[in-house]
Amino acid sequence: MTFVCPACKGPLLGEYECRACGRDYPVIHGIPDFRLFPDPYIGIPQDRAKAAHLFEAAQTRSFRQMLDYYYSITAEDPGDLAKVWTAHALAETDIAAFLLRKAGIERGRALLDIGCSTGGLLIAAKRGFEIVAGVDVALRWLAIGALRLREAGVAAQLVCANAEALPFPVESFDTITSIDTVEHLRDAAAGMREAHRVATDPATILCATNNRYATLPDPQVHLWGVGWLPRAWQPGYVAWRRKDLHRYHIRMRSAREMDQLLRDAGFSMRGTEAAPLIAPHRPKLESALDFYNTVRRAPLMNRIAPRLWSVARKTST
Ligand SMILES: [Zn+2]
Repeated sequence: MTFVCPACKGPLLGEYECRACGRDYPVIHGIPDFRLFPDPYIGIPQDRAKAAHLFEAAQTRSFRQMLDYYYSITAEDPGDLAKVWTAHALAETDIAAFLLRKAGIERGRALLDIGCSTGGLLIAAKRGFEIVAGVDVALRWLAIGALRLREAGVAAQLVCANAEALPFPVESFDTITSIDTVEHLRDAAAGMREAHRVATDPATILCATNNRYATLPDPQVHLWGVGWLPRAWQPGYVAWRRKDLHRYHIRMRSAREMDQLLRDAGFSMRGTEAAPLIAPHRPKLESALDFYNTVRRAPLMNRIAPRLWSVARKTST
């Protein structure tokens, strides 16, 4: 896979040095680290140290055991949420396969998943694509993802980078996915412009995210109604209700805001819809979700549905 400098988009020498702007980027356990800035939770040196520890721990553990191990050494993630997130991470490949099928994204040449975490979607996509690549800002999660891919026998390129500054040349991918990522970005508009830059013409992009105005509790912090508050109040409200959590950095969007974001980046689309849902890790929900999936396209469902998705195209015609 060819990389360019994420900062100036100049060519890179060796592994990986940019002559044009003087930056260089290390490769850590086979994963290039092209980050220009860290994620909101820990700094780059601390993330690299944690990743080094996790790469080591992954030598003698399974993917499942690594999830438990991760949360056992991460005191700042509360146990009740760690349990929910673990169940979700384990179900991620099945959820991704369902989403890709529903979106009609089953084959192509090259797929990029922005915000790939442990790579569940890459495993689901690999059958239909020659090249699959995943970008995430957290090297610590990619360390666990590398093990997940190895266990699944899937060859995928993992890259540590900011969505706002991707290290790929223009027109590299005919399919781009981004699941539960846009709401975490420091600059979502820049992230979507980068997705558009690295997309071929034509290309398809699938973005899925929780709805700001969902009429169910927020799935990430398990609180009801966060999205209904003015944005400036949300961190204070979450801190008050969950004193054990990191500062709330999430910026959930409405369907209209998702449309705006993608169109401003240059994508064309019919409109953001209520996303189809499955929850293989929560079998009790099955019949409720079956019903929801039959009515999700009804008028105004995209206002109140728990999740949204946008299937958009880059096309010059
Ligand atoms: Zn450069």
